[in-house]
Amino acid sequence: MTATTRQDWSERAAALAIEGRCFIDGSYCAARDLRSFDKNSPLDGRKLAAIARGSADDIDRAVAAARRVFSAGHWSRMAPVQRKRILIRFADLLESHAQELALLETLDMGKPIAHALATDVPGAANAIRWSAEAIDKVYGEVAATAEDQLGLVTREAVGVVGVIVPWNFPLLMASWKLGPALACGNSVVLKPSERSPLTAIRIAALACEAGIPEGVLNVVPGFGAEAGDALSRHMDVDAIAFTGSTGVAKRLMVASGQSNLKRVWTEAGGKSPNIVFADAPDLSAAATSAASAIAYNQGQVCTAGSRLLVQESVREEFLEHLRVALATWAPNDALDPASRYGAMVDAQHLESVQGYIASGLEEGARLVAGTGEGKGCYLAPVVFDGVRNDMRIAREEIFGAVLSVISFGNTEEAVAIANDTPYGLAAALWTSSLSRAHQVARALRAGSVWVNQYSGGDMTAPFGGFKQSGNGRDRSLHAFDKYTELKATWIRL
Ligand code: NAD
Repeated sequence: MTATTRQDWSERAAALAIEGRCFIDGSYCAARDLRSFDKNSPLDGRKLAAIARGSADDIDRAVAAARRVFSAGHWSRMAPVQRKRILIRFADLLESHAQELALLETLDMGKPIAHALATDVPGAANAIRWSAEAIDKVYGEVAATAEDQLGLVTREAVGVVGVIVPWNFPLLMASWKLGPALACGNSVVLKPSERSPLTAIRIAALACEAGIPEGVLNVVPGFGAEAGDALSRHMDVDAIAFTGSTGVAKRLMVASGQSNLKRVWTEAGGKSPNIVFADAPDLSAAATSAASAIAYNQGQVCTAGSRLLVQESVREEFLEHLRVALATWAPNDALDPASRYGAMVDAQHLESVQGYIASGLEEGARLVAGTGEGKGCYLAPVVFDGVRNDMRIAREEIFGAVLSVISFGNTEEAVAIANDTPYGLAAALWTSSLSRAHQVARALRAGSVWVNQYSGGDMTAPFGGFKQSGNGRDRSLHAFDKYTELKATWIRL
């Protein structure tokens, strides 16, 4: 039965049998020491499942299974066209389980069910399918050698890849890595966030059902300091593909240096500027987009447009449009299909966001929308005006719907403020001038730049950060670089 109403989703949620165990070498199993932790829903606090608390022992078992199958070649040496077929079947299975997966995502981390259905699940299936379809269309090179030599430049799977992902888009972030990693022939040990492990655990069985051999995709849930740390220090893991905070990204690089120099690829935090020039083509449309840029996913988005830079001459008018636009992002039960603004991931995170709101007030910023009062795990968006770029709320990633409005006078000033941040994930600008659009886009130090829109993009272009927003790229053929080693073979003729 297809769920369409709030009542349908609640009934489905009540009837759901949720798996919380590890998935190692093709089957579900408890953590070796039998430890587990409770996963409660941010929607109403109810316990969803006991989740296996993976330890170094479980990571060892998963890595051993991944290595064994990698060396045996069942997947790594399978013809690319065959891996493609199996991965497309996996993507199809994600789609045919869309309602179940979307519900797990909403119950687990609080996002509106409509968004989980429209974005997270189809986006994940698309990421897997896109990478699968590409894998039998990438070629090696023949080097420009002297007559008596043949130089072949080929790419081969890196081996065992540890994938560590955050809780804000659990399935989607995992899929951006699983798609290319698996398509290239690697084996994977996936460590989902302790705050949202449910879809990762569920899709492991779907991967097997699709025909991915046992041991190729393993999932070990658990805490960062336990399972995550063990994975990052493991001597038989060849690469870590990480999405999460900048602080943890730095730790992973240290762990690599202290263990086996595994490749570490990080997609980390952001504090992205959204610059509105007075000649923006449509101020009202820009305000609608700015509201969505800070409120979508309750502000828990790496590319959230959390610093809104507005040219002084249109500031008042723009703020008026913004207030109207933000009113459409009122908290509402995430299981209601009409909801576009759900719950924060948990009470601890809500408190952290409220701490930033308090710091904004202490530093003298003016609260012009929202109150900072939470209800359960729900917290309405907050806007601060009169923010200086050196305030904490403008410098640190809050990871909630707290918008800092900063005024500027001219283009040079806007670019200087925009780039004055340790991060470089994304940036946007709104202008009617073609020259200004190009000049400012060039000057912005960010991995993605949007003109007259916020967000946007798909699997066809790379995604990732400059500066402390990370290294390497997800999406597009560039992502394949992370999951392959480049080999030069010289043949004397
Ligand atoms: P986090 O860094 O706290 O955790 C991410 C993952 O790392 C989790 O699975 C966690 O268990 C694990 N981890 C934590 N400590 C670890 C350790 N010592 N060793 C190994 N693993 C460890 O991030 P989060 O709170 O889950 O997610 C929010 C962050 O993710 C934000 O900073 C956000 O900007 C970022 N993010 C970035 C992107 C991107 O593409 N750049 C996308 C989504 C989220």
